[in-house]
Amino acid sequence: MFDFYFGVIITELLEKLKILGDSAKYDAACTSSGSDRGGTADGIGNAVSCGICHSFAADGRCISLLKVLMTNYCIFDCKYCINRKSNDVERARFEPRELAELVINFYKRNYIEGLFLSSGIIKNPDYTCEQMIEAISLLRFEYKFNGYIHAKAIPGADPLLIERLGFLVDRMSVNIELPSQESLAKLAPDKSKRNILLPMHNIKTGIEQNHTEIVKYKAAPKFVPAGQSTQMIIGATPDSDFQIIRLSEALYKKFSLKRVFYSAYVPVGDEKYLPSKDTKPPLLREHRLYQADWLLRFYGFEAGELLDEKHSSFNPLLDPKCNWAVDHPEFFPVEVNKASYEMLLRVPGIGVNSAKRIMMARRSASLDFKDLKKLGIVLKRAQYFITCKGKRAEGLKVTNSAVMRELMSASVVKKLDESGMTLSSGKMEQLSFFDAEQNISMEDMQKCLTGQL
Ligand code: SF4
Repeated sequence: MFDFYFGVIITELLEKLKILGDSAKYDAACTSSGSDRGGTADGIGNAVSCGICHSFAADGRCISLLKVLMTNYCIFDCKYCINRKSNDVERARFEPRELAELVINFYKRNYIEGLFLSSGIIKNPDYTCEQMIEAISLLRFEYKFNGYIHAKAIPGADPLLIERLGFLVDRMSVNIELPSQESLAKLAPDKSKRNILLPMHNIKTGIEQNHTEIVKYKAAPKFVPAGQSTQMIIGATPDSDFQIIRLSEALYKKFSLKRVFYSAYVPVGDEKYLPSKDTKPPLLREHRLYQADWLLRFYGFEAGELLDEKHSSFNPLLDPKCNWAVDHPEFFPVEVNKASYEMLLRVPGIGVNSAKRIMMARRSASLDFKDLKKLGIVLKRAQYFITCKGKRAEGLKVTNSAVMRELMSASVVKKLDESGMTLSSGKMEQLSFFDAEQNISMEDMQKCLTGQL
């Protein structure tokens, strides 16, 4: 008899997990990196190990966490969301203890390294937040789980609840979802800019105050030690790449976000104001935004340098850094032995690591192309934009066609060759009738993940 009931409970639990894990898959903001909170003598797990051993699925999303919702019941009706109240989907809800036990058991079996917890809104934002706090408190205090936890802040929840949650988790995110107030009003009428930006502001202030406290009292509890992030949905609304990247820039500056995640819109039904159900998710656009995001965070670019009101979409054929270089021939070639670190970073093919290596090596000697190769600098693209000791690379023919071929990914060049087109003038307009690549090449993907643009 006991076995029978136990079997029923397990089946129910697995069914809930199936529904709530599936409902959570649309949230891209789940990276596990960035926490420096070590293990404790009586605890289980360690957030640091998550930071260094997270892995990514083929589409670039992190897969080391159990990514799940407390519930997919929701009183809100965001049109782009599969869990909206008006959508007819199977619903489920975890009790806080059920979820805590599931996580700790998965962790002990080595299935996961941490938890990403979000939720639909049940009853009201405060109640939902309390449920999340209860589940995570059980994990932290009863089960002594010391691994990585990323929790979503529920828009509209009381600031004191957000603060309590912040002391239990490593990272928090408040999803901005849509890039403009107009889109928010149309597609997420229950949400407001204020109830999204206020928790972001409070988390930022809390992190700053906590840093001061930790300097004074080493044992002070840590508040959101891995910082906060957000997510924007791409392609659900007419908002342009320029609007999106400019908003990301403002969020990084104003709220010190660790990351903005971009999630290509996956149609969830035929809703007024939304792309039709058979529209493919704009993956290349998402990819270009990730590349531009790297440029904002690590390469010293500003959104206004990459796009403007007149040119408000990223070039599907070139990554944003190459596109900038092609549009600004007046800055090139750059003399490797004299250029500032900031200017080296603007050379296509020279990433953060390469620029640092050059700066270090040229302190002791003037560098030539052979030296650059020895330093591990990949010259395939860079050679067209640099000189060493005033000279171009030996035998290099700088024609528009040669440069463009090196800057485009292999799959675009292949299509170009197949179509019989030439790039004699090198003008991007000539390519406008050429199909933008639909798939992202491995080369592009790798550069996007490592940031070596
Ligand atoms: S509040 Fe969240 S879960 Fe609810 S409908 Fe909106 S996006 Fe979906």
